[in-house]
Amino acid sequence: MKLNINTASKANLPTTSAQRNIGSYGDDTAGPTLLCICGIHGNEPSGLQAFHRVLATLKEEEHEVRGHLVGLAGNLKALKQKVRFIHEDLNRIWSVARITRVLEDSVSGNFQNAEEEEQAEILHHLEEIFSQSKGPIYVMDLHTTSSVSQPFVTINDTIRNREFAKNLPFLMVLGIEEFLDGTVLSYVNELGHIAIGVESGQHQDPYSIVWHELAIWLALAHSGCLQSELPHHIKEKVQLLATTEKNVFEVRHRKELLKNEQFEMNPGYTNFDNVKKGQVIAKNVHGNIQVPEDGQILMPLYQKLGEDGFFIVRQIKPLWLGISKWLRSKGVHRLLPYLPGIRKYQGQGHELLVNTKIAKYYVIEFFHLLGFRKKTQMGRHILFSRRKYDFEAP
Ligand SMILES: [Zn+2]
Repeated sequence: MKLNINTASKANLPTTSAQRNIGSYGDDTAGPTLLCICGIHGNEPSGLQAFHRVLATLKEEEHEVRGHLVGLAGNLKALKQKVRFIHEDLNRIWSVARITRVLEDSVSGNFQNAEEEEQAEILHHLEEIFSQSKGPIYVMDLHTTSSVSQPFVTINDTIRNREFAKNLPFLMVLGIEEFLDGTVLSYVNELGHIAIGVESGQHQDPYSIVWHELAIWLALAHSGCLQSELPHHIKEKVQLLATTEKNVFEVRHRKELLKNEQFEMNPGYTNFDNVKKGQVIAKNVHGNIQVPEDGQILMPLYQKLGEDGFFIVRQIKPLWLGISKWLRSKGVHRLLPYLPGIRKYQGQGHELLVNTKIAKYYVIEFFHLLGFRKKTQMGRHILFSRRKYDFEAP
């Protein structure tokens, strides 16, 4: 759904705009817009620092751009207090229903909590940035993790997101939105813009800033925004990383944290460590927590605040990525409602209901290949929804 967020302009907005807009570079010429969202989690300031570095170099070396680069700070109150969030995770409240209510609340200025106030103001800025843009829009959401990590990119699995994310010399994780509701990336994606998340490393690791800086420069270059050459120190890093592996993974499992379960990761796990089915990697009030299937661990929780204990991901072979792109380009998904056990949901073409008693094997994998995400499980039925704007902008 394309949201009309005009109401935010008339609302009583909080007065923190000066810090919200962390800077921009470019001019009025038609060209792409690259928007960086920095610190939507308040204990992750790396993106802000990287953005300032990029901005300083752009100005100092007088780089030429078409379109512009703009940076928005995420959770300002939480950034000040150096905590992930104040009342709730600002990166889990971007559902259509929630946004509609927050926009209503913004008219009176009576917000229900700190994060809703932050969200209203970010929405206002997004509306302004998107409406003024004179070309394609690219959004990068800059994060870090509580565990030690090599940098990786997370995307909603559209071909357009994949192609753009491939320009970064990092590992890629597809389909995390199937497990996380209400992320800002999904919201922006649904509007039809290309959107990628960059998890650059551990919160306090100085290299996290370096990788975020590299990500911003490469996004500037590959979006067509940057007209001059990359700065010398960035070119050096690109060369250094030219031969690193850029494996692609899909998310298979999320350990959701329940209230008062006293979840505790066993020490020593870092992102993309191999784990085996049955391996004990954490504990809670009920005892040991085992890994449900072979794979690699992602984002094990080594901080107090958070709703995800860990994720399990699995590598996708390049061949399957190629097959998936080809199948989607041929529109194979249109044949699905004619297969046994599959029917359109409430007459909608982009949502399909699958009876797993009839369609039994590799159902989720097959639907992923064709560009669908699993929405919900309803008894023996699974509801899949096809991702919008897979190949083309709206
Ligand atoms: Zn984060």
